[in-house]
Amino acid sequence: MSTTLHESAAATPPTAAPRSPAAADARYDTLVATLRDIAAEHPDVVLASSLAAEDMVLTHAIFANDIPIEIFTLDTGRLNPETLGMIDTITAHYGKAIRVVRPDPAAVEQYVTEHGPNAFYESVPLRKACCEIRKVVPLRGALAGHSAWITGQRREQAVTRGELPDREHDPVFGLEKYNPLVLWTQDDVWQTLRRLGVPTNPLHDRGYPSIGCEPCTRAIRPGEDLRAGRWWWESSDSKECGLHAGNVSATPVSVVEFSKRSG
Ligand code: SF4
Repeated sequence: MSTTLHESAAATPPTAAPRSPAAADARYDTLVATLRDIAAEHPDVVLASSLAAEDMVLTHAIFANDIPIEIFTLDTGRLNPETLGMIDTITAHYGKAIRVVRPDPAAVEQYVTEHGPNAFYESVPLRKACCEIRKVVPLRGALAGHSAWITGQRREQAVTRGELPDREHDPVFGLEKYNPLVLWTQDDVWQTLRRLGVPTNPLHDRGYPSIGCEPCTRAIRPGEDLRAGRWWWESSDSKECGLHAGNVSATPVSVVEFSKRSG
């Protein structure tokens, strides 16, 4: 009987390299070629980085190969110190900076004044309103005028991403959206990070496979969905923050099916 990826998720980064070094090299080379193709088709393409593992694979591929793709991250004002520290870590490691985008201070202050600093625990609408102010609106501003953006989303990350394509038109922000890691597994990501010596967020080693704002993210236990630690007080089918509002599938992806498709 096949096991769903969500059932088999590791709470901490996998320790064993699941595939041969040659396969890992080929997978990474394909990624680099794909990013070059995207940059050639969209000279203004940008990578929106969460500073988590998947986005560090993309950041390394872009910076180490001098691919002309701008990288930015959203500092929501509620990130963990470890996550914020990745901004300086990246600059020190690659000698290149990523752009930091922040929310409108007046909008944040109004939300906090009207609802309190942690109102996102009280209801899904209040949680989504906070994400709208701290994430969605700043992202919309960062993407304005661009023809395409890149994300580190993978199908196996959550039930909401089970049918994610590698390229799609983003109806929310009105531009092309590329998900070049769509078929990568968690093992693929960590095998590449370790082989290439890519710096990673220390929270990954403490049970955080998915990292968001500090008050809305917790470590997961072995066997939990990779995004179970995100907004853990909500049902799994509402766990998107508005950055990827097109993710509506609730179809789990099996390990067996995924291995065949990505092999
Ligand atoms: S993840 Fe939490 S703190 Fe961050 S923007 Fe969304 S609701 Fe607000």
